[in-house]
Amino acid sequence: MTDKTKKRRLAVVNADSCVACGTCFAVCPFEAMEIYKGCYARPVGERCVGCGICERNCPIGCISIKIREEAV
Ligand code: SF4
Ligand code: SF4
Repeated sequence: MTDKTKKRRLAVVNADSCVACGTCFAVCPFEAMEIYKGCYARPVGERCVGCGICERNCPIGCISIKIREEAV
């Protein structure tokens, strides 16, 4: 049996550094960020495509784009 995976780009937030400024929420063209309980940003479900716009605009530099392998 062969396990199939696909690679997916995804924004990852360092929640300890995030100041919940809302910039990533505002600039994301896919409405893929939310400010969880007003405390820190996190991607919403499967919407994030890893485009990196939020990473480039975060004033704290606490977003990074990771590549994850997911089962298909
Ligand atoms: S732009 Fe950065 S600091 Fe601001 S809410 Fe998003 S992750 Fe947090
Ligand atoms: S990487 Fe792109 S799609 Fe994902 S949350 Fe950031 S701006 Fe939105």
